[in-house]
Amino acid sequence: MPDKGTKKKLTHVEEGEASTPAAEARTFVPTPESKAKAGKFRLFAVLSWIVAIGLEVAAILQLKVQPIKMWLLIVLIVADLVFAVIGNLLWKKANRFDPASEKQKVKFFVQNQLGAIIAVIAFLPLVLLIFTNKDLKGKQKGLVGAVAVVALLIAGFTGIDFNPPSQEQYAQQIEQVKSLGAEHVYWTKSGSRFHLYQDCQHINTRKTDEIFQGTVPQARELKNITELCKTCEARWKKEHAAAEIPAPAAEVPAAEVPAGDLVPEPVN
Ligand SMILES: [Zn+2]
Repeated sequence: MPDKGTKKKLTHVEEGEASTPAAEARTFVPTPESKAKAGKFRLFAVLSWIVAIGLEVAAILQLKVQPIKMWLLIVLIVADLVFAVIGNLLWKKANRFDPASEKQKVKFFVQNQLGAIIAVIAFLPLVLLIFTNKDLKGKQKGLVGAVAVVALLIAGFTGIDFNPPSQEQYAQQIEQVKSLGAEHVYWTKSGSRFHLYQDCQHINTRKTDEIFQGTVPQARELKNITELCKTCEARWKKEHAAAEIPAPAAEVPAAEVPAGDLVPEPVN
């Protein structure tokens, strides 16, 4: 059955708003626009982190001023947290435009988890200095210490990239959609998968009033969508099964064909 289209508002994401797949999709190369965007996000992330660490230094200096102003310490810790989290979010966004390669294991880890590393730098020294401070009384120490520990945890948690993008994953997704013969994919604001058909039952629902159309990297950059809808994939295969020219079966025994090649395990 052909794609019947959709009555919903269909927003076509402009080329250049996010990257287009590289002509040679074996390796993923971000477009100059994506590179530039990533650079801008990274610059602001680093600036935000510098402010966060600066606020931590200010809080540490406050610990040496007698009498210790509790409210000021807490304000500095909260401000430190705000800038640390802003930096983390910008940094993770940048990685969606310009992902690291899984082949360089150390770089891949550091680039994707840098926010968590910065969180440790921006809070752990302060936490240790609060708990070892002799001028803070028991109750005060408990309160400020708890605020600092919670801030460390929040900053660390938002700094972790639980679904880190990689060049290999991008290339594989582009290849996958290409091998299915689709030019564009579709997604919704709230969805977690991209679709091959505008009229897919999962996106063409009553709740949906807008469907986005674009490339796989766009889905990833704009919404962090990494998975292809299983319903769409099954439908596409069914529709194209008849038209497909059977492969020369004699040369490739069925047992040697790797199963599930088209569907990568979701990385979560
Ligand atoms: Zn679908």
